[in-house]
Amino acid sequence: MKIHEYQAKELFRAAGIPVPMGHVVTVAEQAAAAFDQLGGALAVVKAQIHAGGRGKGGGVKLVKSAEEAAEAARGMLGQPLITPQTGPAGQIVKQVLVEAGTAIDRELYVGITLDRSLGCPVLMASTEGGMDIEEVAATAPEKILKEPIDPEAGLRGYQSRRLVYALGFPKASRKAAAELLQKLSRFSLEMDTSLVEINPLVIDTEGGVIALDAKVNFDDNGLFRHPDVVALRDIDEEDPRETQAEEAGLSYIALDGNIGCMVNGAGLAMGTMDTIQLAGGSPANFLDVGGGATSEQVKAAFKIILSDENVAAILVNIFGGIMKCDVIAEGIIEAAREVEIGVPLVVRLEGTNVERGRELLENSGIDLITASDLADAAAKAVEAAGVAKV
Ligand code: GDP
Ligand code: MN
Repeated sequence: MKIHEYQAKELFRAAGIPVPMGHVVTVAEQAAAAFDQLGGALAVVKAQIHAGGRGKGGGVKLVKSAEEAAEAARGMLGQPLITPQTGPAGQIVKQVLVEAGTAIDRELYVGITLDRSLGCPVLMASTEGGMDIEEVAATAPEKILKEPIDPEAGLRGYQSRRLVYALGFPKASRKAAAELLQKLSRFSLEMDTSLVEINPLVIDTEGGVIALDAKVNFDDNGLFRHPDVVALRDIDEEDPRETQAEEAGLSYIALDGNIGCMVNGAGLAMGTMDTIQLAGGSPANFLDVGGGATSEQVKAAFKIILSDENVAAILVNIFGGIMKCDVIAEGIIEAAREVEIGVPLVVRLEGTNVERGRELLENSGIDLITASDLADAAAKAVEAAGVAKV
């Protein structure tokens, strides 16, 4: 689960991590009042959407008066903000954060994520803050320093000192920087985050160390321990298809390919996606209908897949274990009656009640391409999607 920057900063503040003073507002006039309340000569108006890269898209504006603050807020509120992370339609801005301006001396990067090969969280830090960290990772990976975090002990004192020296913090800022790294690692462990990112972490002209941006994602499997975090959820920012799937009891993740996948079981779904890639195609989604899906769920799954306009073909890959092939077949038939499928449909069924399932499909009169095994199904789906695109 993701949250907004202003929410992440409130959590940071509570954890003792320094952030600028700020007020979140929903109408432009409030932005002017917020500017006055902050009492400084400089403030920053920041669009609150879940995507990053806002600076590049015009969602971060430095302002020098209450009028300028209102004007900047007016330009953002109610408008879509397009950033490198939002997709072409952008995301509607409903709130802006008006924050006291910081006089920046240096911008750094700090993040904590899971390192799957090490099997523990890892703290990453770089002197190349404020810019695309993915680009730094691709072009100058040696500029990203890493320290593994022991999930029990947290980041050790020597590790934070090593980072602080390696990042070249001036003497007067070292203690504050080391403390911030300690607090951030504790925060990440206690809050069950999947990602924490401060980009930029800045040293201001007085040597203060401040989190100027804040991104926090939570591990959904840990949310039951944090009802206060669940309360911060903003459904408007989420992919509606993923929310619909969640309501229907399906696991769905939107991807950017053109072959819609409907599979039972997460492992088989992953295998199906890999096989599509191997056959030269690209999956439009991950979708696991689960071990015991009903025909209602299969119908819901079809609707969700078809609401993605990139989908040029659908691959149904079912191995009937607990799931029965005839139930899937019924779901496909009902879905085809209710929603116009309109794209080639490749079906591979195997397992429990497969004969009955195939018979139902054959007699239904639905236009479909049957496949003998997974490789065959993937090849046929890739071909069908290619043909459909033309
Ligand atoms: P993002 O583009 O969504 O990552 O938004 P950020 O919060 O990281 O802001 C983008 C950039 O705006 C930062 O890297 C800074 O260079 C600049 N910026 C943000 N707040 C301030 C501020 O208080 N003072 C100054 N001088 N620049 C700021
Ligand atoms: Mn940023």
